[in-house]
Amino acid sequence: MNFLLARKSVTQSYSPSKAVLSLMQDFRRMTNDCIRIGLLHDVSNMKKLCSLTYRELGRNNNVLSYYKLCANSKASGILASRNKSIKRGFKTKNPYVKKPILVSCYYFRIVDGKLRFPLGNKAFETIPLTRHALSIISDPSFKINSFTLTEHSLSLCISKDVPEIEGTTGTVGIDRNLRNLTVGNEKFVKYYDVGEIVRIAERTRSIVRSFARNDVRIRRIISSKYGTRRRERSKRIQHLISKDIVKNAREQKKAIVFEDIRNIRNMYKKGSGQGRAYRGMMNNWEYSETKREIEYKAAWEGVPIIHLTRKETRGTSLDCVGCGERLQEPLKNDVQHKRQLWCEKCKRWLDRDHVAVMNISHRGWLRFSQSKGIGSEAMVQERGFDTLILKVDPMKLQIKYRK
Ligand SMILES: [Zn+2]
Repeated sequence: MNFLLARKSVTQSYSPSKAVLSLMQDFRRMTNDCIRIGLLHDVSNMKKLCSLTYRELGRNNNVLSYYKLCANSKASGILASRNKSIKRGFKTKNPYVKKPILVSCYYFRIVDGKLRFPLGNKAFETIPLTRHALSIISDPSFKINSFTLTEHSLSLCISKDVPEIEGTTGTVGIDRNLRNLTVGNEKFVKYYDVGEIVRIAERTRSIVRSFARNDVRIRRIISSKYGTRRRERSKRIQHLISKDIVKNAREQKKAIVFEDIRNIRNMYKKGSGQGRAYRGMMNNWEYSETKREIEYKAAWEGVPIIHLTRKETRGTSLDCVGCGERLQEPLKNDVQHKRQLWCEKCKRWLDRDHVAVMNISHRGWLRFSQSKGIGSEAMVQERGFDTLILKVDPMKLQIKYRK
């Protein structure tokens, strides 16, 4: 049986007591010390960072040693994500933790519906959990990995091992577009309209633009408020859609296939000949939020996820599903065939979104059936796709899933 590790977090509001707040400040300071040392020695590996910061943190005698370890872990996480940004070519400042925080995975317990953790000097802090949080963590198969405290919230990270659904019968491809999300395969196609997200973003932009008062500080505060509102609203839409997609995939025993569109922002850079408004709209597109939500929800339900490589993604929206021929765009003034493509070989119009999901789903299934050692006879050979690669040692590919 294959297992997937599913992670989730449950958050509640919380305001820290004086003792906790001082511990949180200590934690923040220790994390910043670690970041500083890490930057100095160009180290982001936690083990190396620990050995470098050992002496520096040793001076904080009043802080329990395992909180020092957690500060190290937090710092190494921050440094690693900085390295990632640099690798991708983004401008980065030296990272710094501004707000008090406490993250720990050691010596905490849930007793009588309360979170209990040590403060040092044999003192403990207990925080009553809300009914919602308790109802979620009541499942005995869950493991509580860690807790995080901020000035306003407490969140618990929980995980469980979910058995992967046996007997997957096929795949559904997901094609993410700016205004719609298409899910499906050769048998069925389902549309989700996400144009509302674009409209919310546009409205927010026009509101923020209308602020007339010439004061950067106030403008920043108000626009951040509107930004949060915008994020919450679009998240709500994406949540409902991703929930529905995972539910359907689970019921029909389908694996979910994603294409790789990570470098799509490169298409909308300055100087690419597109208008400013268009580039703004395309760069505001939150294509990975949908993916993130579907991924963690699918893991929680045991639905397998397949990521196509960039090579496999190439041409998914351009190749004919019937014959593999490169499809042609309609003429600009051809209103009748909007969002359609012409196949010269089959002499027919195909829907752009249908083509994409069918290709994605098909290529995903090729990979999935190979890795699972499922007989590839389910593939329809005459459809003109790349010739099948013969099954190569399916066990090897399976190992990374196996528990
Ligand atoms: Zn064709």
